[in-house]
Amino acid sequence: MIELNDDKYFFEFSDKNVPVLCVKPGDTVRVHTRDCFSNQLQPPAGNIGTLDWDNINPATGPIYIDGAQAGTVLKVKIESIDFAASACMCTGEDEGVMGDIFTGGLTNVFRPVVDGKLIWSDKIVLEPRPMIGVIGVAPKDGAAINCGTPGSHGGNMDNTMVAPGATLYFPVAVDGALFGCGDMHAVMGDGEIGVSGGEIAGWPTLTFDVLCDRSLDNPVLENDESFSTIASAPTLDEACTIAVHDMVAIIKAFAADCPPDDELVMLLSLCGNVEVCQIVDPMKTARFVVPKYVLAGLGFAW
Ligand code: CA
Ligand code: ZN
Repeated sequence: MIELNDDKYFFEFSDKNVPVLCVKPGDTVRVHTRDCFSNQLQPPAGNIGTLDWDNINPATGPIYIDGAQAGTVLKVKIESIDFAASACMCTGEDEGVMGDIFTGGLTNVFRPVVDGKLIWSDKIVLEPRPMIGVIGVAPKDGAAINCGTPGSHGGNMDNTMVAPGATLYFPVAVDGALFGCGDMHAVMGDGEIGVSGGEIAGWPTLTFDVLCDRSLDNPVLENDESFSTIASAPTLDEACTIAVHDMVAIIKAFAADCPPDDELVMLLSLCGNVEVCQIVDPMKTARFVVPKYVLAGLGFAW
């Protein structure tokens, strides 16, 4: 298996980034990622005063994928996620949903992670919910998008479904796709209300492929149970609307037995779930999740 060290990273998804690894479709890479603080925070817990805020959300990469030409779709299967032994969380003034109740900057704590479980206290042990917060490709039109901001290219989506067993599909905007990932979480609740998850260094293992016969506007995710569209926008309302529209368009394009629009929308109103990814980043992210057995009944073949 190919290994990629955590000393090759970037802070903006951009076509200006120079690839640090070139892979072929079908290759599997074990990527070492720093935590979202670039491993700057070390015990003991306390007030975050000396953090270099220009050094946040490093994404390891970029990885150039052969054959991923602009206009194609990059397929990324998350084979597994391994973690370091300690997670860090932070919250505080003007951060997250509850930032209004805090004064005096940000505080942080550390907790051990044992067998994937985050040991919050002797009474509370959180079950593993491993996920990748930042994952994406270089955006279109020569844009440079900070790794803290999500968008059509992926980025800081903080989607708890970006987990082992999931496969992501990204619209490729530049040749090679220029993939990167970081911001691993040992566990995070949907919404990420306090502005951080169980921030931790780790090793996601990823398999890359290229779909030349597809195109996408925004990222898509599938796992064993469901297929979901992911959208980021200035408000959660807008993100939800985009995600639902994307799903309807994809079903209409790939379902052999697609019913008329009104029936399709009624069906999705019965079985599709609009869910929050995160509500704390510069753009908000939502997903629209449809069960695979429903899609199978529509003759959906993606
Ligand atoms: Ca994040
Ligand atoms: Zn994070």
